[in-house]
Amino acid sequence: MKLHEYQGKELLKRFGVNVPDGRVAYTPDEARVIAQEIGAPVMVKAQVHVGGRGKAGGVKYCPTPDVAFEKASDILGMDIKGLTVKKVLVTRAVDIAKEYYVGMIVDRNVQTYTLMVSKEGGVEIEEVAAENPDAIIKFTVDPVSGLRPFEARAVALQAGLEGNLNKIATMMVQLSRACIESDATLAEINPLVITEQGDVVAADAKVDLDDNALFRHQDLLHYRELEAEHPLEVEASNYGFAYVKLDGHIGVIGNGAGIVMTSLDVVNRVGGKPANFLDIGGGAKAEVVYNAVKLVLKDSDVKGILINIFGGITRADEVAKGVIRALDEGLLTKPVAMRVAGTAEEEAKALLSQLSTPLIKMYPDMFAAAQAVSDEVKA
Ligand code: GDP
Ligand code: MG
Repeated sequence: MKLHEYQGKELLKRFGVNVPDGRVAYTPDEARVIAQEIGAPVMVKAQVHVGGRGKAGGVKYCPTPDVAFEKASDILGMDIKGLTVKKVLVTRAVDIAKEYYVGMIVDRNVQTYTLMVSKEGGVEIEEVAAENPDAIIKFTVDPVSGLRPFEARAVALQAGLEGNLNKIATMMVQLSRACIESDATLAEINPLVITEQGDVVAADAKVDLDDNALFRHQDLLHYRELEAEHPLEVEASNYGFAYVKLDGHIGVIGNGAGIVMTSLDVVNRVGGKPANFLDIGGGAKAEVVYNAVKLVLKDSDVKGILINIFGGITRADEVAKGVIRALDEGLLTKPVAMRVAGTAEEEAKALLSQLSTPLIKMYPDMFAAAQAVSDEVKA
């Protein structure tokens, strides 16, 4: 889950990070009022889930509240990389002497966090990585101890950061704590500003939270913006399904991430295109399967469904009952190709073979099932 800058700053502030005062405005009038209250000059900043807002014209300096009104009028409704700006952050402007980069990510290569620090802040780190990779200092952070102050100071020195090193290192440690304790996959301050007065300020914040750890962070759930997500993905998450919308026409349902990914590959191999990834998990009962079929059929792109079940703790007869319930309720409007194997396979086959509908067919293996549904969808 991506956080907006203002949400990221709110989170970092809880860990002690020095962020300039600011509030969110949805209208130009609100922007003017906030500018009056916190005191101009302010920055008016588009709140959209992409980087490079500055370059795109979504970040403006406003010497007076009236200019904040004007800039907010320009920025609200603006399109930045395909996203419409619906709100702006109005925040106290800081006098920038230097712009640095500090970020921490979950790094699969080292199986822990990597801290990145650069004195080339203000521009996107991908750009620095492409043009001047030596300007980025990387440091592997122990996930148990987190980043320690002496390590932060050493990395800051190595990166050539100038200014009050203790203050800079403190902010780095706070960022590291925020990242680890919030289960973020990325937390970055870019730019980390050294002001003309020598203060150290986080002028931007980018935080991505790990969706799979959100259950541990009830206090962060309100940051989620359902309208930014695909409606079927929202519904799927209410059912507890792992569901990803794709751009083909074959709905794919399976019991386990591995078998679903394999099913997607097989559908592609036989010339079809999957409409979704849907993992119903292990041990699914008929009701869960019924909900899965119902969900997949809500996608108007879906012209046929592949159900690929290898029963271990999942009972194949429960799967069959779920599909049959969807059929009985008249929900099943598209052909379903089923491969059911494993636990209770015989019971499932017995149930399915009693049906007189042409909509549900069983196949001996997933290749045959995938081939059949692909052919049917094309026909
Ligand atoms: P991004 O482009 O989406 O990363 O948005 P940022 O929040 O990083 O802002 C982009 C740029 O705007 C920064 O690199 C700064 O140069 C400038 N900027 C942001 N905040 C301030 C501020 O408070 N004062 C001044 N003078 N410039 C700022
Ligand atoms: Mg930035």
